[in-house]
Amino acid sequence: MNRNKQTPSRESVTTIAQDGSRNFLRPADVRGKYTLLRRISAILLILIYVSLPWIPINGYPAVFLDIADRRFHLFGLTLAAEDLWILFFFITGLGFLLFLVTSLFGRIWCGWACPQTVFLEHVFRRVERWIEGPAKKQKELDAMEWCPEKVTKRLLKHGIYIILAGMIAHLFLSYFITVDILFSWLSEGPASHPRAFVFMLFMTGVLYFNFSWFREQLCLIICPYGRLQSALIDDDSVVIGYDEIRGEPRGRKKRARKAPESSEADQIFQEGDCIDCHRCVSVCPTGIDIRQGLQMECIGCSNCVDACNEVMDKIGRPRGLVRYDSLNGLSGKKHKIIRPRLFLYFALMSFGIAAFAISVTHVKPGNLGVSRMTGTPFFVSDGSIRNQFNLRLINKRNQPATFSVEAVSEQEGLSTAGFEGSITVAPMQEIVRPYVILLPKEKYDGPFPLTIQVNGQPGDFTVSREVEFLGPDPRLLREDMELQFGGDS
Ligand code: SF4
Ligand code: SF4
Repeated sequence: MNRNKQTPSRESVTTIAQDGSRNFLRPADVRGKYTLLRRISAILLILIYVSLPWIPINGYPAVFLDIADRRFHLFGLTLAAEDLWILFFFITGLGFLLFLVTSLFGRIWCGWACPQTVFLEHVFRRVERWIEGPAKKQKELDAMEWCPEKVTKRLLKHGIYIILAGMIAHLFLSYFITVDILFSWLSEGPASHPRAFVFMLFMTGVLYFNFSWFREQLCLIICPYGRLQSALIDDDSVVIGYDEIRGEPRGRKKRARKAPESSEADQIFQEGDCIDCHRCVSVCPTGIDIRQGLQMECIGCSNCVDACNEVMDKIGRPRGLVRYDSLNGLSGKKHKIIRPRLFLYFALMSFGIAAFAISVTHVKPGNLGVSRMTGTPFFVSDGSIRNQFNLRLINKRNQPATFSVEAVSEQEGLSTAGFEGSITVAPMQEIVRPYVILLPKEKYDGPFPLTIQVNGQPGDFTVSREVEFLGPDPRLLREDMELQFGGDS
């Protein structure tokens, strides 16, 4: 597979061989402080991802995106489709939080929390290492002719990959239909829910393709975040970098095993601490050489930090030749944490979160939709002018709600028909009915505004919509009435 294997350079992508074929990476395993912390954080994130559809809050899963009924349940908050505008503020706040974090700590999201990295590095690659062994053995297996051992290992690995991809796809679906419905659909079989079955097959296929073959290409080719990096970070952002001052000139050296702190050892290393062992390159999941500086391909996974620390321990030199530091820190300059752009990102993030929090408190448990009936905008008959509307009363909560409807206006003489008394709407349901507003002809002096108001319980809320009461030209109406009145006399 590794035909035309290339040395990482800033001019080309390591994962594309010189003949244009894919150079499939087999990153070496690494141990160390950051690897351990990342594994703990990955396990926690996977637990959260798996458990959210199972945890009930206010009668619904903690996260339930009920697209079929256009209701979205988020940690006890229920939003109807018409309330989704408030998520704009939330997403804006999160976006600026990501800007702030990136500006402070580079691509920490990619290396520590992105689902692509979490599942690839901590699930799929673990399975691969368990079945095929470390990177060296994997490369040997790649180069091996097809034989019973290779067929068995590949079948086992890809079989487990397909099962894992299927499990992730089903878990993903449970966010949209709930776990209970997922299990009931599974027990009823694919023939009862063919569309869901096809969707699951497609999702499983996409996930399997991504985690078994596409892998780091998603970060390099598809994800826009890596490209944003250069705009979001500056020389004071903490990134993963190589200390060139300390490391260069690089090269293989004698070990200072016996007396690492001695002057002899200092002499040995006066050329630079990097022994050019390429260990930092061999563990990199995107195939780059961090010693060439910060690159778009770096996902900030910290593998190279742990790998180089391991090497430094072995050769008796201080850790941190590759480390978390700012570009200024790595080049020996003063490092500033507080910068103007942080205030800007913080202010924008706070605005988004505050606007979201305020909007949430204004979300009403019910809603009202008003539309004028199609056809003639008004009718004149039996001494009255009639305007007809369709009213949609929506109960957004998971308990029955009662509504009372009234038409509010300064105009005297209005009467209504269609929503007398209080109306009960079942949980998460809506009622659509005609609502007629009448005005005696003699009281009409031209179009006027009026408010259709709904008072709802529980929650004691009011929702209103402004409409206009329409009728014929008042002069024609008067003439008509005079004629009629004269004729009667
Ligand atoms: S792991 Fe450290 S010593 Fe080895 S090549 Fe990389 S930077 Fe140099
Ligand atoms: S350069 Fe280091 S931090 Fe960046 S992706 Fe490679 S191993 Fe991870």
